Amino acid sequence: MRPATQVIRAGLQPKAQGKPFSPGVTFAGTYHASGDIAEIPYTYRRYHNPTWTQFESALAELEGGTAVSFASGMAAVAAVFGSTLKRGDILVMPSDSYYTTRLLADGFFSNIGVQVRRAPTAGDGLRKLLEGARLLWLETPANPGLDVCDIAALSEAAHRQNLLVAVDNTTATVLSQRPLELGADFSVASDTKGLTGHSDLILGHVAVADSAHADKLLSWRTQVGAVPGPMEVWLADRSLATLEMRLARQSSNALTVAEFLATRAEIHSLRWPGLSSDPSHAIASRQMRYFGPVISFALSDGAHAERFLASCMLLFEATSFGGIHTTAERRARWGGDDIPPGFIRLSVGCEDAQDLIEDIEQALDSL
Ligand code: PLP
Repeated sequence: MRPATQVIRAGLQPKAQGKPFSPGVTFAGTYHASGDIAEIPYTYRRYHNPTWTQFESALAELEGGTAVSFASGMAAVAAVFGSTLKRGDILVMPSDSYYTTRLLADGFFSNIGVQVRRAPTAGDGLRKLLEGARLLWLETPANPGLDVCDIAALSEAAHRQNLLVAVDNTTATVLSQRPLELGADFSVASDTKGLTGHSDLILGHVAVADSAHADKLLSWRTQVGAVPGPMEVWLADRSLATLEMRLARQSSNALTVAEFLATRAEIHSLRWPGLSSDPSHAIASRQMRYFGPVISFALSDGAHAERFLASCMLLFEATSFGGIHTTAERRARWGGDDIPPGFIRLSVGCEDAQDLIEDIEQALDSL
């Protein structure tokens, strides 16, 4: 089955007369459950829920492994750290990965005795830090700098030294990049972003090829209580069906917008892995099916960036990315990333690309 068909059909129930294509949301917290609990499919919602089962089976088909849904992307990240790392272990991670993931590693996990080693996503730095480590964490493309690393090559190098490998696949989504197929042990994502794409929920998931990892993740979710709400999961399941249409449109719009930005003298440090001139293009072309909606660039300083964003009519000034509406923000306002004050992360939506270009053009002209 081709990807566009696969996302529309993933997780659907077998055909049955009088039944819907897809069951609705189940809100129950507790279920009729007498006798031996091992015989009962659903007992209490911190353990399981039919709406999660539906969504997780769709994700499992797309990921090529068992999927476990979490209350947020950070709950999914914490579940991988928490179920693999203990005192004395070494975690190797990118210095340019998502800020809160770095905070979690430097805070809670280094406080319990995990040692953290860091190198940039681009280049050979991560591979040089593997010796004696337990977990290699990758994020590609990295948010917000958009550097890319070679998942297959790094997974192979890490496995040779007995490390586990986890990939934060948020920016790409599973439709664009399949970490398990490329050799990673964990495929992790914030489904808040492109996977669901409507800026109306917070959710995350982890997919694994090895059922022993799945069991540990399930125990972690149940014990920590990092469980997703059924309504969010149902909305996510419904949104999944349009993922290919959204991603294809966002990626072609992003190409048009990136090519336009490249013509403007005010723009510097333009990054989008789909541009043939981008330093990430060669690796991204090998491992990504779509280059996605996220573009980054810088204006001369913070004031110019703020004025540009305020002058845009169609670009919503908002954090996050991957939604159907085009959004942008001056990322340095949050702190924590090694980026200049005029750095803008732009997430191209599904509007008409010509309208976006006209809006960006008038905002740049007004500076
Ligand atoms: N990973 C990446 C790459 C992210 O960009 C984010 C959020 O921005 C997260 C993880 C955390 O996701 P959430 O906000 O759903 O907890």
